Amino acid sequence: MNRYCLRIADSVSTRFLGVAALGVLMIIALFLGVPRDAQAGDTYEELVSRYQTLRNTDVKIRREPEWTALIGALEQYQHRSPKSAQAPDALFRAAILAEQMHLARPSLLSTGQVIEKFDKVVELYSRSEVADDAALRAAQLLHSSRGLDQIVRKRLAFVLANYPKSDSAPKARDLLHGSQGQSFQSPKRADSTKAGAPVVVLDPGHGGEDKGAQGIGGILEKDIVLDIALRLEQLLVRGLGANVRLTRRKDEFVPLALRTQMANDLEADLFISLHTNASPQHTLSGFEVYYLDTTDDKASALLAERENMAFGGNGPADDLSFMLSDLIQSGKLEESILLARDITGSLKGLHPQWKGVRSLGVKKGPFYVLVGAHMPCVLVELFFIDHRGDGALLGKESFRQAVADRLFRGVKRFLARSGKRN
Ligand SMILES: [Zn+2]
Repeated sequence: MNRYCLRIADSVSTRFLGVAALGVLMIIALFLGVPRDAQAGDTYEELVSRYQTLRNTDVKIRREPEWTALIGALEQYQHRSPKSAQAPDALFRAAILAEQMHLARPSLLSTGQVIEKFDKVVELYSRSEVADDAALRAAQLLHSSRGLDQIVRKRLAFVLANYPKSDSAPKARDLLHGSQGQSFQSPKRADSTKAGAPVVVLDPGHGGEDKGAQGIGGILEKDIVLDIALRLEQLLVRGLGANVRLTRRKDEFVPLALRTQMANDLEADLFISLHTNASPQHTLSGFEVYYLDTTDDKASALLAERENMAFGGNGPADDLSFMLSDLIQSGKLEESILLARDITGSLKGLHPQWKGVRSLGVKKGPFYVLVGAHMPCVLVELFFIDHRGDGALLGKESFRQAVADRLFRGVKRFLARSGKRN
């Protein structure tokens, strides 16, 4: 799932042409009045792309018909090809959409209706890699409404007995032993606000069912970037007395729209989104730092009105290649470029000690997560997780610490220069 997350990096210009062409086709389709949910032959990539658009941008379920239609389309997909590799994932995603609808607006769907959908995943596909997640989410949902009663205990015990080695097992155990379990709220900041200290928002990409790119030895982007973000947080707090907030502190899905909103609400001085890269042939390596700029991009002007539409250009999980109308960050562009340069310069310092580390330099791209941020913001691609050399390095704790340290130094330099510190 989600093998390629940020392949914008591979070939930005080629991608734009493809995206533009696809966009024109979609606009034509809309003019002709073809309802998207009435198309019988949705490919799975298209369904996942629609899923990500809704999950990332429509947090309050304002476009309820689209949610309902997509649940239907995903269930239909499973019904049409129940033995396909994607069938369990299709049912699981349908259940998550139902769960989100229920959580945002309980009148739309009952707890029972949501539980039924998760249970179906476990019944039909008990050996699939989403079965433990489905079983856990059903238990979590029931737990949030009825507490730790007999039924919830039974369900948690089921997860532990049947999926003892899954990532759901520790979560089930925590819940069973009375810790609060997974919340759907934003993570809290560990520290209290210090007057005059810089406010930095760190955004570990992906999370929850959005695993990001998969790497060497089975490591996952969502885990690697969270680990590095937590290390960076420590350094910023200790080294600069900074007020640091993470968009997530654990393995959970956080919509892209909420990530920058958090930074804006805090009036943060900096927003740094952390990701790892992947390439189709697993051959590319290196790090690169992006700032948001599409001002000279004709494709984005053409598609200016098509806000919040995800274009599934190269496959599933093109989660960040959204084309939006209001892309220009007033006044923050220059600072973002400086921040990108400082971080790049600092990461280059990894080189003598860590052999094979390559810099791909400062780049620009239309990243949804950076859109709408009212402060200097960058997206850092911390190496190619699926590259033999890069992936092996990311698997090492000492390397992740070194990366966090280099990021820290880059941020420190930027803050010192821009007068945000002291
Ligand atoms: Zn990513």
